[in-house]
Amino acid sequence: MTTTTSRTANRRTSKASAQTVLKPAANSGPDHDCPLCPRLASFRSDIREREPGWFNGPVPAFGSSDASLLIVGLAPGLQGANRTGRPFTGDYAGDLLYPTLLDYGFARGVYKARPDDGLELLDCRIGNAVHCVPPQNKPTPAEINTCRQFLIALFESMPRLRAIVALGRIAHDSTIKALGLRAVQAPFSHGAVHEAGHRRLYDSYHCSRYNTNTRVLTPEMFRSVFARVRADLDAG
Ligand code: SF4
Repeated sequence: MTTTTSRTANRRTSKASAQTVLKPAANSGPDHDCPLCPRLASFRSDIREREPGWFNGPVPAFGSSDASLLIVGLAPGLQGANRTGRPFTGDYAGDLLYPTLLDYGFARGVYKARPDDGLELLDCRIGNAVHCVPPQNKPTPAEINTCRQFLIALFESMPRLRAIVALGRIAHDSTIKALGLRAVQAPFSHGAVHEAGHRRLYDSYHCSRYNTNTRVLTPEMFRSVFARVRADLDAG
């Protein structure tokens, strides 16, 4: 029997298929067919068959490598970044993230939940700890560890990087390993700030639908993290 939920999901899927998606970039991060996580490569292959018009690959970072701020999410959402090819674009998490970036001067334009909306990031870049969409949004520890080489490469590609916002515990844990910090030196906590040499790591709960619906994360709590980042970057 077709449920209301699945009918709604099907409507979303067919509408999503008609929207613009980004094409794979030639040389940013992992190859579009990266085979290093067999489970994720197989999942990606299944979705490519089902939704050939979607991006369906490791999602490259959005924003200039000259930026001072890098936001690290968990992984592409199935109908968000995995569909559109731009981090946090087209799913619920982007509806909180991008307006917050606009409010604190880290973006310019209008966020319309599609990669051709003309939105520009200002001194800000967005990437993910895991580049490929995982089933149920849950990468395994081995997949997180395997993809960390690309997170490290992302850090190394940003010569002016001074601030990193980790969205959620998994992004935090992978980031501190990528930065060479020990877990006891930098425990995850919403609003915490950790020194990492000439960089600072700021922790936030992930801006997921679940966290905001359950009020684990309120828009005010999320904004306070970016207010602190803005103030610190402006202070020099
Ligand atoms: S998650 Fe990262 S390492 Fe794993 S297949 Fe995707 S790009 Fe490759």
